[in-house]
Amino acid sequence: MPVGVLALQGDFEKHRQMLQRLDMESIPVRYPDNLKDCSGLIIPGGESTTLTKQINYANLRAPLLEFADDKPVFGTCAGLIMLAETVDDDRVAPLGLLDMTVSRNGWGRQVHSSTEELKLSFSAGTPFQAVFIRAPVVTGTGPSVTILASYGDQPVLITDGRHLACTFHPELGEDCRVHEYFKRLMDV
Ligand code: GLN
Repeated sequence: MPVGVLALQGDFEKHRQMLQRLDMESIPVRYPDNLKDCSGLIIPGGESTTLTKQINYANLRAPLLEFADDKPVFGTCAGLIMLAETVDDDRVAPLGLLDMTVSRNGWGRQVHSSTEELKLSFSAGTPFQAVFIRAPVVTGTGPSVTILASYGDQPVLITDGRHLACTFHPELGEDCRVHEYFKRLMDV
């Protein structure tokens, strides 16, 4: 079964290209029906306030929650914000799939965009070049969550064994290791 990539806004095509490099088929998800054929779902970066509106407008909220009951969801940047339990912005209605609290504006007023080297706990290889674009900050995690990579003392890639989320943009660049990790979650 193909991997769904939520295609309401943001750089969903880049995620699809990354999956293609891993020989994985993908389909854009715009309507609840699209989810029926998917083995997992990626929620890309973009703007979490806009994503909230679009998910509601497309009547995708309940189908997404049902899908996530037994299939893995991978949220990147704004997608991570959507997976959180709690977000510090009332305009965002997160799905509550991962036990974490998130600050949309965790970097303060400064617009934080940079590339940083990360050590991935599941890979002994070279550091991962992670692109952060107006990145959120994970301000707290519950006991079900495992941290797979940190930037300083901040978790930036986390999982609970089913879902996956990162504050950076793993679809940018050539390194497929984070998507490969998601592939493994779909095989479980
Ligand atoms: N700052 C954006 C938000 O609040 C996320 C940025 C991104 O996805 N690159 O939704």
